Amino acid sequence: MAKVKKAFFCKNCGYESPKWMGKCPSCNEWNTFSEEIISSSKETAGYTSKKKNRKPILIQTIEVEKEARIKLSDQELNRVLGGGLVPGSLTLFGGEPGIGKSTLMLQMALSHPTLKTLYVSGEESEQQLKMRAERIGYDNPQCFVLAETDIESVFKQIENLNPNLVLIDSIQTLYSTILDSTPGSVSQTRECAGQLMRFAKTTQTPVILIGHITKDGSLAGPKVLEHMVDTVLQFEGDRNFVYRLLRTVKNRFGATNELGVYEMVQEGLREVPNPSKILISENRDDLSGVAIAPILEGIRPVLIEVQALVSSAVYGTPQRTSTGFDLRRLNMLLAVLEKRAGFRLAAKDVFLNLTGGIKVDDPALDLAVAAAILSSSEDIALQSMTCLAGEIGLSGEVRPVSRIDQRILEAEKLGFERIVVSTFNKGLSKKRYNIEIVTVSTIEDAISTLFA
Ligand SMILES: [Zn+2]
Repeated sequence: MAKVKKAFFCKNCGYESPKWMGKCPSCNEWNTFSEEIISSSKETAGYTSKKKNRKPILIQTIEVEKEARIKLSDQELNRVLGGGLVPGSLTLFGGEPGIGKSTLMLQMALSHPTLKTLYVSGEESEQQLKMRAERIGYDNPQCFVLAETDIESVFKQIENLNPNLVLIDSIQTLYSTILDSTPGSVSQTRECAGQLMRFAKTTQTPVILIGHITKDGSLAGPKVLEHMVDTVLQFEGDRNFVYRLLRTVKNRFGATNELGVYEMVQEGLREVPNPSKILISENRDDLSGVAIAPILEGIRPVLIEVQALVSSAVYGTPQRTSTGFDLRRLNMLLAVLEKRAGFRLAAKDVFLNLTGGIKVDDPALDLAVAAAILSSSEDIALQSMTCLAGEIGLSGEVRPVSRIDQRILEAEKLGFERIVVSTFNKGLSKKRYNIEIVTVSTIEDAISTLFA
């Protein structure tokens, strides 16, 4: 009998070690190592690309083919993928369980009558998939489903069927008989993804892997896969809310930080072409502590509402809480307001919230955050139909932000009458817009404008 070979793997990042370790030297997490059997007795099994001897070629002689992307009917998916699905690409579609990953992927598979699609599910039976498909209500005569977890059998079916697109739901349920470890373990996940990668590259068939991520990232899988795949998409959102955000975390074929927005409805997930409308509330005119800012997610401008609540601290140390905005940045802004604008905030509790459960690290949000805080602190509502876009520096200056035109146009599109921006934005011609543009150079300037 062959000797059983074992190794230890970090469940968080996939680091391999011959012995157990308390702390992972790669990702610095504690207590993440577990032992897995990796002995391989049947080395010939699994997907292996036919070996071709490749020769080096002169870079000048290589002809670049026009990118033949597969355009999907889902515009939000097209956007986050950078303009469509690239043939031969391996995409990881990750997210927490239960937020609608399978629904979105099945919906995509069903909405392309021209694509022969294979949907491999290790989680649901064919009957369950049919029920889900009926609820979604599309009809693709070329969408095949397969309930299978053995990757070698999956490849056999792929060979017979010859599909144009393969979806795996989920990568954690697949296993290869090459390895003796259990499905979902680091070595299995890595092996199966590796075989699918070779398949995608050899046959130019795009493959999408669904992967579950738990909140603390403890489940093996997606983190390990992130550096193997071409594109990583992350599906986010609270399962108690109807809106879902799709983000590009990594993309070899396009920009990262793109954002897609969906609404969960009875039939599945509906695209939200204009997210600004859902992120700002309707009746905010007389409310203090509310400010609106046009931010950029990837290339897409989105209007977001900042809410602040400032009250006298009950206990000795004032509380500072922030949802969706960096807490250190909030503390910095409070210090600037105190020092440069003379507001006494040191003894106040400050709570900050960005609506829609969205997380933003766009510096253009600074001015709106400061305005919301002052508005709440003084209990005066901001001028209605006004939004703000500017970064605040340590000396209280309002700094210019990138792509101001797009931000202004988005505010204009949603019916805002006034936008406050930095004087230092280059090439800003006020005449071009139908919206009033107020320029300020310091935080004091901004305050006198806003609370006039
Ligand atoms: Zn690690």
